[in-house]
Amino acid sequence: MLVIEEFKLRSEMATTPVQPTTPSQTNPPAKTRVREPGMGIFYACRCENFFIIDQLYYCQSCQSTTCKFCTTQEIDSYYCPNCLENMPSTEAMMYKNNCKKCFTCPCCFSGLIYQGIPITAEKSDYYFSCGYCHWDSLEMGLKADSPSALAAKAIDIEKEDPSQKELSKLIEKLQKDERERAKERRQMGRLRRSSLLVRTAAPQNLQSVPPKSLDELEKSLQAKESARNKAAVKKKTKPAVFVENLDHLTKDNIDLNEISNLSQRFQNLYSQPITQKKLTPKRVHLLTRRSKHCSKCDKLMIKPDLNPNKIEFKRQHVALMYVPRISISLLPPLPLNVETPVLVKFWNPVHSLMSVTISKFDKYPDASAEIQVLLPSTFISPRDHDDEDDSSEIKSLKAKDDAAVISERKTNWVIIKLPVKPLRIEQIKFVLQIGVKFKSTSGDQDTTFLVNFNLGTPTM
Ligand SMILES: [Zn+2]
Ligand SMILES: [Zn+2]
Ligand SMILES: [Zn+2]
Ligand SMILES: [Zn+2]
Repeated sequence: MLVIEEFKLRSEMATTPVQPTTPSQTNPPAKTRVREPGMGIFYACRCENFFIIDQLYYCQSCQSTTCKFCTTQEIDSYYCPNCLENMPSTEAMMYKNNCKKCFTCPCCFSGLIYQGIPITAEKSDYYFSCGYCHWDSLEMGLKADSPSALAAKAIDIEKEDPSQKELSKLIEKLQKDERERAKERRQMGRLRRSSLLVRTAAPQNLQSVPPKSLDELEKSLQAKESARNKAAVKKKTKPAVFVENLDHLTKDNIDLNEISNLSQRFQNLYSQPITQKKLTPKRVHLLTRRSKHCSKCDKLMIKPDLNPNKIEFKRQHVALMYVPRISISLLPPLPLNVETPVLVKFWNPVHSLMSVTISKFDKYPDASAEIQVLLPSTFISPRDHDDEDDSSEIKSLKAKDDAAVISERKTNWVIIKLPVKPLRIEQIKFVLQIGVKFKSTSGDQDTTFLVNFNLGTPTM
């Protein structure tokens, strides 16, 4: 969903009636403004980084917008995107996060199917076949008497790959190092605790405590750590060998259709075969479904359904559902040093009356426009309002509206006039502070966040 849904553009200033553009208009008007790169509306997280609203969550406990960097993630389930089968984490680890029965074509990377050729009345040979590029595994001699045996054979070929063996060794080494580190940490903790206990419980027995035990252990641990790091640096890779004779590349009889391309070689990273005949099928990588928690209060922000066939979420606290959606309703040409009203639309996504306060924020260092905020506070009706625009609530809200500031009001949105005065010939950027109050299932919410506007360059 785009935050700036549509910039209705026009050549005249905002005081004259809007000329709606129709799809049949092929040539844009002379002064039409095109969307420039970087233009948009960006919401701030509590970590003061700006994002589009789709990328933010809303924590009802902290009453603040939360970005992906301010959440912790937890893997709920592993599944194959091809056969949509769930896999327990132990099994996923055993199969190195790949599906145990789905393979991809080494040439075009689409899914392979198990194909059978009857040999006798009871027996069939199975092989992999690509329905898209017609590659099959018979050419490389990969066939078996059952689909499961065929999958096992293909996994065995993968295991023989020297890169896999190298990777397994590396993982083993890292796991061993980590185990050692954990053991040292435990030792250190034990020693600290015992040393503290002895010193606090019986100060007269201080002499009985080994005098430099803590320092010595710390030093020995540091020495071990630096030795480990040095060993890692020392282990150099073999230098590349310079090949002078490149005649084989200039042979006239090379069939380019049989030469593997870079993407195909990256799939077979260790062997990187020159010809397509030597490419081997690869297993489909598993995907994960993850739940996200607020890193400050640990509240659950996102919880997907574990079933890969379902797209619903068990818990979904995205910012789109809680904070007002702000979009530019009308963006007139903005001349330099002239105050021009831009129409900004605020949508209320919640099921209760929402109070919105807009105020200036002068601490933004990149601000290149002066903003006159004329609307200290207003209310927006709830999303699921029974009556339409003629309800008593809307009527009473309309009666209080200042026509010079509020351009239009409907069921759950309001359009305000925001006078913008560009100060420099550069992207028009400014930040507003938005205060929002509403009722949610977790109680009254009162939040404040910054919104960064980028309205493109001023018109000359
Ligand atoms: Zn953040
Ligand atoms: Zn699969
Ligand atoms: Zn293929
Ligand atoms: Zn929180």
